[in-house]
Amino acid sequence: MTEHIEAGISRTSIADWNGAWTPQQADALYHVPDWGNGYFFVNELGHVAARPLSDSGLAIDLYEVVDALKALGVRFPALIRLQDLLKTRVIRINESFRKAIRDTGYENVYQGVFPIKVNQLREVVEEIVEAGKPYNFGLECGSKAELVAALPYLETDSMLLVCNGCKDAVMMRLMLAGQQLGKNILPVLERYEEYGMLLQEARDMGVPTQFGVRIRLSTAGAGLWSESGGETSKFGISLSELLKLVDELRDEEHPAAFKLLHFHLGSQIADLQNVRQAVEEAGRIYARLLRRGFPLQYVDIGGGLGVSYEAGNPDALGTINYTLDDYTRTVIEAMRDVCDEEKVPHPVIVSESGRAVAAFHSILVVEVVNARTKGSADGALSTGAEHPVLQALAYIHDTIGEDEANLDALEKSYRTLNNLRDQIVLLFRRGELELEQKAYAERLYWSACGRINDLLQPYSPDALPETLARIGPQLADHYLCNFSIFRSLADYWAIGQRFPIMPLHRLDEPPLNRGTLVDLTCDSDGQVKRFISPEQDKRHLELHALRPGEPYYLGCFLHGAYQDIMGDMHNLFGRVTEAHVYADPEEPGNFYIEKILSGATVEEQLAQVQYFSNDLERRMNDLILQNVRAGRVRPKLGVKLLDEYRHAFQESTYLRTHNR
Ligand code: PLP
Repeated sequence: MTEHIEAGISRTSIADWNGAWTPQQADALYHVPDWGNGYFFVNELGHVAARPLSDSGLAIDLYEVVDALKALGVRFPALIRLQDLLKTRVIRINESFRKAIRDTGYENVYQGVFPIKVNQLREVVEEIVEAGKPYNFGLECGSKAELVAALPYLETDSMLLVCNGCKDAVMMRLMLAGQQLGKNILPVLERYEEYGMLLQEARDMGVPTQFGVRIRLSTAGAGLWSESGGETSKFGISLSELLKLVDELRDEEHPAAFKLLHFHLGSQIADLQNVRQAVEEAGRIYARLLRRGFPLQYVDIGGGLGVSYEAGNPDALGTINYTLDDYTRTVIEAMRDVCDEEKVPHPVIVSESGRAVAAFHSILVVEVVNARTKGSADGALSTGAEHPVLQALAYIHDTIGEDEANLDALEKSYRTLNNLRDQIVLLFRRGELELEQKAYAERLYWSACGRINDLLQPYSPDALPETLARIGPQLADHYLCNFSIFRSLADYWAIGQRFPIMPLHRLDEPPLNRGTLVDLTCDSDGQVKRFISPEQDKRHLELHALRPGEPYYLGCFLHGAYQDIMGDMHNLFGRVTEAHVYADPEEPGNFYIEKILSGATVEEQLAQVQYFSNDLERRMNDLILQNVRAGRVRPKLGVKLLDEYRHAFQESTYLRTHNR
């Protein structure tokens, strides 16, 4: 078998390779080359490894990192942050713009900003600011709290702070204060009214100001976030409002205060064509404003530079049809062409790429707690199998595919199976079957479905009739994982974005099971059942059978953008523990753990919803005392119970999987 395993690899075909499975096959099975961008691969030990540095091939075995964390007492779920990958991405994006500028003869520079909404963690922002220094890379904020966080990080006067989002007078004054300190801060007017507000505050403070304007383009993006752009977008001002604004500016003799023209098409732009059109449209507006006497310096193309989360399926949501270099070249070329035609100077190009900077650097590691497989008819529960309906079910089970295994015959068997199952449910409701008989029937039914499913493997999923296409997903095992989708995979839950997920180890063994991932929450939505694939809709992940007493870890990759910060508190599951890992060739395993940030405790999560430990403890104490007084509980036991309760406040909100 070559490295390029067929994407729709099946359980039977993996089983065929039993004994000859290689890590390279796992690399292909989980489509690592498609989404890993060269930063991730499966190593010879069958572990996922990372290459976080831009200037060397130095590799870190992620399973070794998991082991090192366990040795330090870290429990999972945990986030591994490969801090070097942030630096690598900042360098890569800036260098790509520089190359596009050189190659196209563009006569100005690129000056990017990092939108901190994508990941506000201080260490993440600090790493990016540090890596961005040689490139004059700045920050973008979209709210009051983000502004307060970002302002003190303007270490040089030339780096930009682009302030998007709705603003109030407090924010305007803060931005003006920053401008007074000589910082390159640009409030971007999202609404026409913000201009009056900014002017008023500037007058009150007696200072001049500079600002940008977010325009609503006709060009919309494509993909999951397309509504962030286009004429109906909730953001930005219209062309008519822009014209009104420039008239006012001229009347007030302030044309030079208008420095930056901004648009944002939405995140994860799927099609480069949209980028080109948007840059052309914004370029025209910039050029015409310049020719009307407004000496704008910057055109800010917003975020949207995509990341490939997918596995070569051009139709999948979350896929993109370009590389980073395609993107930067398209932007620079489109702007150059428009400006040259209009005979105006080329502007500084600003971009607000968040996802493309942050997505790669963090990996969510979750531990599988157990796996629930659908029954097999191993005969252990065959008591009472003499009932005629059960006998009929057993007959179908044993003879499936015996004569012919074409789709018609398999569909017929499946229908018969379902009829028999309906009869069994009815008989049970009427009290005519014993518990054992019903249990045996369930196992026979699923085992028969499994047989049909095995016989379906040679067929392409698209060729299956709807009835038969349902069998595979129904048969998938449930792998219960110690995490919350609502907390840690917000975009999967909210908008159905698929993430690359795979085992971190045992990749030198064929993963013979097919599973979906079930989380800890009491919610049927708390399940990952769609996975990246070149097929349109893949409803299972290839996983290994669990071994008793041996932990099994899965990595959810490309987790660094938006996911940590947008997660919610469903069932009060809290922030997960984080480990900041740096590459170092002098250290064993090529890495060291710089810092561990503990996840939220039960006490911290409860305080978020106004339960405070002292009050809860007092109430618990009262309950116990009532029982002691009533003689139901001995005082010594009462003390012990209260102690157990008190201890739980300092626990992680997730399960303890290995000891008490
Ligand atoms: N700029 C603005 C105004 C945004 O709303 C966003 C997020 O949607 C971004 C930048 C970052 O986008 P991305 O992470 O796709 O680069």
